[in-house]
Amino acid sequence: MQYHTLIRNASIIDGSNRPAYLADVAIVDGRIARIGDVQGARAEEEIDAAGRVLAPGFIDVHTHDDTVVIRQPQLLPKLSQGVTTVIVGNCGISASPVSLRGAPPDPMNLLGTAAAFVYPRFSDYRAAVQAAQPCLNVAALVGHTALRSNHLDDLSRTATPDEISAMRGQLRESLEAGALGLSTGLAYASAFNASTDEVQQLAEELAAFGAVYTTHLRSEFEPVLEAMDEAFRIARHASSPVIISHLKCAGAGNWGRSPQLLASLEQAAHTQAVACDCYPYAASSSTLDLKQVTDAHRITITWSTPHPEVSGRDLLDIAAQWDVPLLDAARRLQPAGAVYYGMDEADVRRILAHPLSMIGSDGLPEDPFPHPRLWGAFPRVLGHFSRDLGLFPLHTAVHKMTGLSAARFGLQQRGEIREGFWADLVLFDPLRVRDVADFTDPQRSAEGIDGVWVNGVRSYVDGQANGARAGRFLPREGDLRVGFSRP
Ligand SMILES: [Zn+2]
Repeated sequence: MQYHTLIRNASIIDGSNRPAYLADVAIVDGRIARIGDVQGARAEEEIDAAGRVLAPGFIDVHTHDDTVVIRQPQLLPKLSQGVTTVIVGNCGISASPVSLRGAPPDPMNLLGTAAAFVYPRFSDYRAAVQAAQPCLNVAALVGHTALRSNHLDDLSRTATPDEISAMRGQLRESLEAGALGLSTGLAYASAFNASTDEVQQLAEELAAFGAVYTTHLRSEFEPVLEAMDEAFRIARHASSPVIISHLKCAGAGNWGRSPQLLASLEQAAHTQAVACDCYPYAASSSTLDLKQVTDAHRITITWSTPHPEVSGRDLLDIAAQWDVPLLDAARRLQPAGAVYYGMDEADVRRILAHPLSMIGSDGLPEDPFPHPRLWGAFPRVLGHFSRDLGLFPLHTAVHKMTGLSAARFGLQQRGEIREGFWADLVLFDPLRVRDVADFTDPQRSAEGIDGVWVNGVRSYVDGQANGARAGRFLPREGDLRVGFSRP
């Protein structure tokens, strides 16, 4: 048998949460053709992977890569971590369907300037991704705030019945064109005053498609449990699965409450389809939000339109230099981005280790001084949390970024190393893999990622991207509810 690629002697971690085993893997026409002993076989490309782990390519379930996959299709921050699929359109903000009437409202500005929003229909976005041929696969949610910005003249109120029906029409059309589901960002001012009923009515469109509801909760601070209840209620009403985005206990007054949050998630899981994603850091990042300005923990400014020179500096220092209160300094800096050191490490670990949590980077690719999760989230889970701290076995770390994620988002024939599945693969050194990007030098490639294959095409070799662009747009396939019945 002649194969395209043979990866010999690898320690296979197959993504299903089973421990590693030794085998050879053969690839033909973009798919895994055979797993096992292929001693007599030949291939155009043969790799000796002794001492290395071969895993399914990582699925970044929580990204804001909507427009960067088109403008910078080489996507080095993700490919260099071993990511082979990104899910875009999270937190209520998506590149499509969008028709702007001016500058993108906060936080849609995280996705780029007005010039980046040129996809009035979801099908336009899908076609643009296909034309751009990014180096990894892209699947997309539709953002509630994006829909609101299309139809409301004022984002600080709830939508009227006519506006809801217009938004439903656009959501339905997007789901028909392959969107995975609906995301919300209810904590942001641009969606905070949307009533539960508004979201519920939109979510009613999901059931007919077997699509998913994902949500950046209305609060991640003290009222977080109430916000989770709202999310569960919306999903029950819509008969759809719900994924809580970047689950956390935000703000010093909220530290230590992760057991309560996880108990609430488990309780809900008895009667409905629920999951969550999280990133492996005790600091968050987004646009600079006046409601989050505090002296209880450190805040750094990552970008500021009126004051680009302060990028990377502490808000406290800036306020001291200007001799003004923190809040006044923050007002002067807006629009701006920030890193908030507002979580407790013990909460981060508990959520990360929970069987219902998947890994998502929440990286912000437009940020000139990004939170290091953009370049380091996946290797940090493998290296720091699994190997160095022993928070969970390596095969569980891999499961949380592959098999579990593919099941929850209905990504067919991906997320596991199985014969017949797409050959999205990452080869890494389990002893060396680690995140290098940190809060002072955040744009650095991880160590220990030796190779990445996307749809069978080797795209990253020995720490370097080779220019291959084999990614595809992945439309929703089948009923996503099915993927929540499996553990
Ligand atoms: Zn978010």
